[in-house]
Amino acid sequence: MASILIKNGRIIDPSQGIDRVSNLLIRDGKIAGYDVPQNGQDRMIDATDKIVSPGLIDMHVHLREPGREEDETIETGTAAALAGGFTSIACMPNTDPPIDTQASVEFIQQQAARAGNCNVYVVACVSKDREGNELAEIGQLCRAGAVGFSDDGAPVYDPELMRRAFEYCLMFDRPILNHAEVRELTRGGVMHEGLMSMILGLPGMPAAAEDVMVSRDILLAEATGGRIHVQHVSTRGSIEIIRRAKAREVRVTTEICPHHFTLTDESLRSFDSNFKMSPPLRGRRDVEVCLAGLADGTIDVICTDHAPHAAEKKMRELDQAPFGIVGLETCLGLVITNLIEPGILDWPTAIAKMTMNPAQILGIPKGTLSVGADADVTIIDPDARWIVDPERFHSKSANTPFAGWELRGRAETVLVGGEVKYQVGQRSKQLI
Ligand SMILES: [Zn+2]
Ligand SMILES: [Zn+2]
Repeated sequence: MASILIKNGRIIDPSQGIDRVSNLLIRDGKIAGYDVPQNGQDRMIDATDKIVSPGLIDMHVHLREPGREEDETIETGTAAALAGGFTSIACMPNTDPPIDTQASVEFIQQQAARAGNCNVYVVACVSKDREGNELAEIGQLCRAGAVGFSDDGAPVYDPELMRRAFEYCLMFDRPILNHAEVRELTRGGVMHEGLMSMILGLPGMPAAAEDVMVSRDILLAEATGGRIHVQHVSTRGSIEIIRRAKAREVRVTTEICPHHFTLTDESLRSFDSNFKMSPPLRGRRDVEVCLAGLADGTIDVICTDHAPHAAEKKMRELDQAPFGIVGLETCLGLVITNLIEPGILDWPTAIAKMTMNPAQILGIPKGTLSVGADADVTIIDPDARWIVDPERFHSKSANTPFAGWELRGRAETVLVGGEVKYQVGQRSKQLI
């Protein structure tokens, strides 16, 4: 395989504490060295004024295949991931059928290999058929390659099932990723319960629905020694609960999606279903606590919860439309525009939350530019200004609340295993 020199970029690799301008050599698909002069390599990529990061990782993606290929396929979802700068993603198992057997894990792996875009890691179901009654074959799923377990889309409801899931996952050192929501409290809700839901006359989903289950999960993780990863954290209550649990060394981690640190429930004034997600957009005070949680390290990971829905579904009335938005192609721009530019996070901290931290939680050998590692690299243009145009998304779906937003910064060149898999401006939906 060819040698590639990425020249003169600002290399930021939190896994090695590196933040400096250097040349990075890639050979035979691996990271081969730093400070290497330009000298006969097969290819040179000029990264002057660019940031060279370990390939970004999104640990929360819905690829919809099998079962809902009208919303997304593994091929289109992984193409969208590349366009967003992600070289590895973890997909959620709420497909149809759900990913709860060895054969279904293998199907995802085969489809991902066939697509040949980014790396795809599989999060498998905690319960058989995602029904919450009976534990899935955790051991068998681990052997098939599952990196974690979740019934996302829905919480693991039964506390006894959850406790046993922790015990099993502990044997294989895998985390449980839970969508924390007490359904009795959110039934019929379409938005965050608060002053705004009252003003708009829309049924609400109280913050307590998240807080109560985050507390339960943490207590069960603590009791069993298991690892809980709180998915898409959104309330000040759960961030405070997680912060306290970390202080007493419970094995808890958490993630946040860009919409939860960017938007508030005020957006629902538009009655646009692209602002309908679960957990819902919260109030201003919650967003402030989320930003503080990002800055102080309580929130470990930035992920997208990429949830594609075909246009005809999202166009329904607010109460009928499904929850969720696409996120892969706007995440990096939102992080740069809303976290890095205002100085809430510095570059190394933001990159750690999209590389090293998710890699550690999932136990995957990614998120690093150390010599010998797979050459998964994201070259970021931090100054590019661009307008979000859903027509140009690589994703099959366009359900984003950020259409028309001007964002700063984007992935320019993305390498997976030493191969250039994406360059900005490359094929978009309009060109296919
Ligand atoms: Zn969820
Ligand atoms: Zn999700």
